[in-house]
Amino acid sequence: MLDKKYYLETFDMFRSSWGEESEFRLCIEEMSELTKELCKFMRYSRNEKSQENDEKLKQIKSNIIEETADVLICASQIMHIVGEDEVRKVMDYKIQRGRKIVEDYINKTKNQPKKN
Ligand SMILES: [Mg+2]
Repeated sequence: MLDKKYYLETFDMFRSSWGEESEFRLCIEEMSELTKELCKFMRYSRNEKSQENDEKLKQIKSNIIEETADVLICASQIMHIVGEDEVRKVMDYKIQRGRKIVEDYINKTKNQPKKN
């Protein structure tokens, strides 16, 4: 695994070579590529089981891995540009808020019969 210093140096090289707008545009492009692969996965997951469909799903999962890596790289670059500390503070707040919501949901539904 590469260390954080290597990532940040590379992000600075991207930004100084191509500019922030190019980095924002690339992030939009990569997010749309991941969106497309997730939509394809949901569509093929509903198909009847067959060897052809299983192979297609395997290829789509591989694409999802690649596009997720692309999005995480771009999102990390955006975080580096706008301020990592500020982004992490908002992430912590949103994770804690989501945790509270899911804990309330679990507590509210734990004694209820499961719906199908
Ligand atoms: Mg991509």
